[in-house]
Amino acid sequence: MGILSCENCRAIVHDKVAICPSCGEKVFARSSPQLEGALGRQRHRSLRVDLIAQTLLWVAAVVAVLFASWWLFLTWAMSGPDPVEKRARKACESALRSGSLDGGRIAIPQPKIHIQDGRYRLEWLAGQGLTMPNGYGANLAAYATCFYDGFTGTITSLRVNGKSFP
Ligand SMILES: [Zn+2]
Repeated sequence: MGILSCENCRAIVHDKVAICPSCGEKVFARSSPQLEGALGRQRHRSLRVDLIAQTLLWVAAVVAVLFASWWLFLTWAMSGPDPVEKRARKACESALRSGSLDGGRIAIPQPKIHIQDGRYRLEWLAGQGLTMPNGYGANLAAYATCFYDGFTGTITSLRVNGKSFP
């Protein structure tokens, strides 16, 4: 199907159309090379726009993938053990060990750790595996709470079986 330009109003009409749908003038079956050229340029332009759009889409996809990996990495890194928390645990455990009657024989399981305003509260609840030597060769079940200041890096309070320790 060829394309014509209406001699009267310059509207683009198909060559099968006898009357211009735009102005109602009779359409002459004569193709316009200028018009074909203009349409060709228009097609070329839209092809270029397509290419730009495709490139932008690819760039957006790559950026999205990079951003997603970065986010996943951050989530993974943040889900790992907090270095201050590790220090808090080490400090509290060594205080428990050095304060007990026979430091080598103390059993220290994983504490429950609560963090509030840079203050770490490590809790070994009764019956959860913390045992302390009694000085007569036996270990007794114990419970303990250790407060650790994350800013100064010091233990502010350590209580074992409800009493200040050691
Ligand atoms: Zn017309």
